[in-house]
Formats: sequence, structure tokens, C-alpha cells
Amino acid sequence: MLAYRLAQAQKQPEFQEVPEPHAGPGQVVVRVAGSGLCHTDFTVISRDRNHWGDEPPPFTLGHEIAGWIEEVGTGVTRFQRGDTVAVNPSWASCGRCHMCRSGEENHCLYQKAIRAPGVGYDGGHAPYVLVPEARFLVPIGDLDPIKAAPLTDAGITTYSAIKSALPGIWPGSTAVVIGVGGLGIYAVQFLRLLTGARIVAVDSTDARLKLARQYGADDVVSSGPDAANHIRELTGGVGAAFVLDCVGVNATLATAVAALSWRGRLAMVGAGGGSIPFDFFKVPPGAQLVTSLNGGSIALMEVVEMAALGRLKILVDRYPLSEAKHAYDDFEHGRLVGRAVLMPAPVEPRAPDSTVTNSSRTVPVTAGA
Ligand SMILES: [Zn+2]
Ligand SMILES: [Zn+2]
Repeated sequence: MLAYRLAQAQKQPEFQEVPEPHAGPGQVVVRVAGSGLCHTDFTVISRDRNHWGDEPPPFTLGHEIAGWIEEVGTGVTRFQRGDTVAVNPSWASCGRCHMCRSGEENHCLYQKAIRAPGVGYDGGHAPYVLVPEARFLVPIGDLDPIKAAPLTDAGITTYSAIKSALPGIWPGSTAVVIGVGGLGIYAVQFLRLLTGARIVAVDSTDARLKLARQYGADDVVSSGPDAANHIRELTGGVGAAFVLDCVGVNATLATAVAALSWRGRLAMVGAGGGSIPFDFFKVPPGAQLVTSLNGGSIALMEVVEMAALGRLKILVDRYPLSEAKHAYDDFEHGRLVGRAVLMPAPVEPRAPDSTVTNSSRTVPVTAGA
């Protein structure tokens, strides 16, 4: 099969012919309906050879995966061929520690490095992917697997960061989402579904701010040096009880801290490489600053349930696998509306009203699940 792979560290990915995988004991082969593109992929591509240690490239990219079970290995009893599933990407988790057993495999205590499909292991940018253990699969029932793909990272990352912040986000408080692209647009929706907070979206693009309003933001603010002041004005000087930074560069972190209320919580999910001083006088008293990496299987189950109920709008830009490079170009140059998802395996025809087709690809699809 043809797979879109990182052949060598710091080289542009390319298509390579690789053998189709087969399921060994306890393993499952998934026919990939959707494999999402993520900003992390650019980081993965740019890492030098030393980063990968004993497990260097080549490997197939793609860590946001959903599809149909193609083959189950011996000992796998709870899944069968044809089942629709989403794939929890925490493949380096041990499955036995406190975190793993509470469904928080993303924070496994024995993970030696951040490894996932498409991040060291063969991922979803191929017609088939070998899932090493059945525990990484979450059934999705009738949910369209192409829409389920982004839930496995973009969805659960924002969901987990918000869920753990809930005790500090009371009705009438303010929750800010910085960056309402592929991640942030989920965050706005989760805040709407889970809290009674006033939701403020911050972005540099008017189109995205407009979208954020449609998806549930009460107020929108253009990013820039005045953004934090603007948020303070909106909150009568109090500031935000919760700020989710989906970008994570110096400028957005500065805005986040300046907009935070006393005792507020700043969660950084965007790995933009930025930093801020953690200083007794430079962050608000009582503030909590946390990072949040991906999510676990419980988060994935819960996000899938919300999508299945039609509560979550999932915006995807669909590309055939053969258009992978084009998709990454569109991503890199800000031409996406939703999350770019590659479609490696042939799928059933879409409903005629759900897609708009142009010459090169099918763009964008907005619909409830
Ligand atoms: Zn990702
Ligand atoms: Zn563990």
C-alpha cells in the first residue's frame, strides 16, 4: 500500500510503498476512513535524528485516526471486522499504572517519550494502520469516522483541558479561548456544552472569529497587544477565570496571563514553543498554569458520545490521501476552514447536501455529527 511517510528526520514527507499490516495476537488492523492533520506533524517533521533515539524514521504520519476494523488478532474478543472505531493515540502508555487505569493514558506514568501513531509509530496516513492493542479503540457506532478522526486529538486535547478546569469555571465567569482554528473551535463548543461561562474567542482572523460566534462564543476579540485589555473591559476589570491557549507562542501566553483573573487557570494546549515568566509577581495571585497533552480513552469516549448526540459540530476539510502534500500546504498557509482530514480508504458516498466539490478536493463540510 502507499503510505505518506517521514522517510528521514528533517526531510519532507513522501509517499512510500509499504506492506499492508496484519494483526498479531492482541492487535487490530483498522481500515483508515479519516486521518487528521495536526500542527504537531510539522514539529515531528522538523525534529533532528537524535530526538528519535532508538526508533528513528521512517514511519507513516497521522495520529488522528478513525475507521473500520479490518482484521482482529487472536485474543481480541470485544471487536469484530466492520466495527467503526476511533483510535486513542496514547500508544506508549503502559496500560497498568494509576493514570492508565483511570482512563488517562495520555499521562501514563511510565511513558518514556511522547510516542504515538504518526509520531514514531506507523500512523494513519495509509489505507491500513496496525493498532498494537485493542484497548486503544473506542467504538463510534453510527458516527461518521471521517468526522471522528479529529476528535482523537484536537477534540480530546481541548476537552481534557476544559474538563479538569471545570471546578473553577462557574456560571457568570469568563472563559477565553485563544486561537479558534482546528483546536479552538472545539474548545468554544465544549465550554458552551459544559459551563455557564461567558465565552470569549481571540484570533487574528476575522473569518475565524465569525465562525467562533456561530459555534457559541459570546464575544470575540482580535489578537494583539490590546486583546488582554479588551478582555478586562468585558469582565469589568476582573479578568478571565479560565484561559485556554491553543497557540502557545510568546505573544498569546502574554495575552493569556494579562487577561487572567486572580485564582484563574491558564491551560496551554498549543505547543507553539513560547514561554512566560512564572514569577510571584508576574502571574495573578492564586493562578494555576498548566499544560495539557492530548487526552485519554475516557475523554475520547465522552467526546464521541457528544458528537453522536449531535451536540458537537465537526468541521473538516476532506482530502484524498493522494492530496496529502496539498493538504499540508493548505494547512501551513492558513487556507483551511476546519481540520484537514485525509481519506485513505474508499468510503461510502457522502450525502449529496453535505459536500461541496471543487476541481481538486472536496471542501469544507460543516455539519453536526
Ligand atoms: Zn496532534
Ligand atoms: Zn500507564
